Amino acid sequence: MSTASPAIEPTGVFADAIKRLEHAARLAELDDETLERLRHPKALIEVSIPVRMDDGSLRVFHGYRVRHDDTRGPGKGGIRYHPDVSLDEVKALAFWMTCKCAVVGIPFGGAKGGIIVNPKELSHLELERLSRGFIRLIGDFIGPETDIPAPDVYTNAMIMGWMMDEYSKMQGQRTPAVITGKPIPLGGSLGRDDATGRGAYYCIKELERHLSWKPSEITVAVQGFGNAGQHVASLLHGDGYRIVAVSDSRGGSYRKEGFDIPSLIKIKNETRALKAVYCDGSVCEAVEAETITNEQLLELDVDLLIPAALENQITETNAGDIKAPFIVEVANGPITSQGDEILTERGALIVPDILANAGGVTVSYFEWVQNKQGYYWTIEEVHERLLVIMAREFNAVYDLMKAKNVDMRTAAYAHALKRIAAAIEAQGTQRYFSNGE
Ligand code: NAD
Repeated sequence: MSTASPAIEPTGVFADAIKRLEHAARLAELDDETLERLRHPKALIEVSIPVRMDDGSLRVFHGYRVRHDDTRGPGKGGIRYHPDVSLDEVKALAFWMTCKCAVVGIPFGGAKGGIIVNPKELSHLELERLSRGFIRLIGDFIGPETDIPAPDVYTNAMIMGWMMDEYSKMQGQRTPAVITGKPIPLGGSLGRDDATGRGAYYCIKELERHLSWKPSEITVAVQGFGNAGQHVASLLHGDGYRIVAVSDSRGGSYRKEGFDIPSLIKIKNETRALKAVYCDGSVCEAVEAETITNEQLLELDVDLLIPAALENQITETNAGDIKAPFIVEVANGPITSQGDEILTERGALIVPDILANAGGVTVSYFEWVQNKQGYYWTIEEVHERLLVIMAREFNAVYDLMKAKNVDMRTAAYAHALKRIAAAIEAQGTQRYFSNGE
């Protein structure tokens, strides 16, 4: 018998996310009650934030915070500033956070927040008033033991610093553990900046070990040369992998011999442009490379494809043209469910986003632990602890994939769901009540 409440069935992008959950639930042998719990976010708040603009006018912005599940620990997830933010999207992102935290076994549930705004249109002071106003409205909903925000699309360490400060004023005491991704002087963790790229790199190192790869023989294309893309490319380059293509929102470059990644990063940071160069100290020379589009980059005949830009890049339209046998999803949701089916049928091995990009939330967890302890770790300690978690959980998912003969995404969800289900079961379920007779 279905226990679903038809009036509040999941809709839109959240409903799509739930569809993937239902697929993996069978492998995890999830009972109907647990599945029903996960189909509905636990709590959410919708707020209207009045902001005095620099010209004296008043604008009202709309924002959300969704706590999807907190059975395994406080909700955890970023705050996104984007004109396309919607409640449906925030619910889906919160659900993914529940799964991501469970897949790597950190003691958090899932949450997410967002404000409908184009932050590029706001001055620094307007952005600060908006961020502080949002925290004043959701202050009773979040907290170090209930729900811990972090940066997401178009929010950064500076904004997290304002938010922590505003929350601390509300509490009448400094409360750094309420938010992660803070500036280092305000209690941020060393190693948070490259954690997502580094976590993906540790996954690739495990693949390398399983498949006996020789890095110099492996060609790599990276879509999106931002924070996560640059760091994973740089670490792989350091090990001798051949990064033959990179791109940003304006397009990409291809070079058969591979790029010198530190030179590319230097120029990108200095000029904001992606130029094929080789630098010797401060002297940089252009190197020959082919200009390609982002679509062409995805379809290159490379061994390893790393989408590290946006969602929905590989769909049913182009999945048939993707040649890479290995894909590591550094971006959230770069492959649609239809694209996923086509690639999986073709035999591509996809390391899914909830595992591949979980390095970021793992080091956020380290930041929260350090804030609560008031004792801060060295960069070596952060890297070592991240490696232990990423390698352990990658191998658990890889082994489950092999044992059950399923794709890695299904295995990752099943791995996560088992942990969530164990926590829900321990709280008391139908079985718990019916055993006594
Ligand atoms: P970022 O803004 O630093 O970089 C994004 C890069 O993608 C930029 O170089 C941008 O030019 C490029 N880009 C934008 N539109 C593009 C397009 N149409 N085609 C190709 N490139 C395009 O962002 P980031 O922090 O590196 O995040 C990248 C992805 O990784 C996002 O999906 C994000 O959700 C995901 N992610 C990031 C983190 C993190 O800690 N940074 C954690 C988990 C997931």
